Amino acid sequence: ETLDKGLEKSKTSFFSKLSKAVAGKSKVDDEVLDNLEEVLVTSDVGVNTTLKVIERIEDRVARDKYLGTDELNKILREEIAALLSETNSGEATEFEIPADKKPYVLMVVGVNGVGKTTTIGKLAYQFKKAGKKVVLGAADTFRAAAIDQLQVWADRVDVPIVRQNMGSDPASVAFDTLQSAVSQDADVVIIDTAGRLHNKVNLMNELSKVKRVMQKVIGDAPHDVLLVLDGSTGQNAFEQAKQFTAATEVTSLAVTKLDGTAKGGVVIGISDQFKIPVKYIGVGEGIEDLQVFNKYEFVDSFFK
Ligand code: GDP
Repeated sequence: ETLDKGLEKSKTSFFSKLSKAVAGKSKVDDEVLDNLEEVLVTSDVGVNTTLKVIERIEDRVARDKYLGTDELNKILREEIAALLSETNSGEATEFEIPADKKPYVLMVVGVNGVGKTTTIGKLAYQFKKAGKKVVLGAADTFRAAAIDQLQVWADRVDVPIVRQNMGSDPASVAFDTLQSAVSQDADVVIIDTAGRLHNKVNLMNELSKVKRVMQKVIGDAPHDVLLVLDGSTGQNAFEQAKQFTAATEVTSLAVTKLDGTAKGGVVIGISDQFKIPVKYIGVGEGIEDLQVFNKYEFVDSFFK
């Protein structure tokens, strides 16, 4: 219900575009497929994934000979869910952490402005609400504002934060954070990292140094690397996914600002292209506006 509300804009737009694409047609033919292709591309599903979906529908048309446009919703929904299934188990509904990791170390990456700090704050809130002891690490030391913003969230959620001065070594902050978390017997550590992309080699070096130094405290840290992407930026989000996956091993995605976009299709395209599961989606600026990604709910919210 809240997901439907959060995704209202994506849903309405996708749905109305789709209705226009099949208006006056009873049968799925080349023209309908062309229109559908356009709807998917303009919803930021991405060209490659769109072509994959179109191909799947063409196969069904060829197999069944006749495919009514009234069935198109149902079939699109099935095909998109199947596509998402290749990477997303889609079973999770709660904010869970692996039971065998204590503390569980989550490193968060992404460029400035995508909602990285907000997502960290929302996650800290959810984990704390679930009874976990959370520690934040302000390893985005490049901008003073990044440290201060994380502090605001730490205060708001009422969780400890480890920080140093602006310009200090991010790896050193990460090291301190892990040590502090271990000594406090914390359950979850969330490490914020710098969001600079303009120098790929620097980014790669910095992230691997942060990882290497963390491993001096906890041998298999980080347990997850979460890439935060702004769902309203379409091609930019694809480009960032490309650069970050080249710079470090990204294990999961958070796609933010899906409330403010008519282009929620980016979730489908990015998940398909990069074979990385979408773990969380941001559907607003509020502390509760983060959801565990459920592919069935997501697809349903588009096609209801
Ligand atoms: P950072 O620079 O990546 O750390 O970005 P911030 O966390 O500071 O967020 C940038 C802006 O995006 C802020 O105004 C946030 O309130 C807003 N924001 C973050 N997530 C969402 C979301 O899911 N929906 C909406 N509408 N705004 C969001």
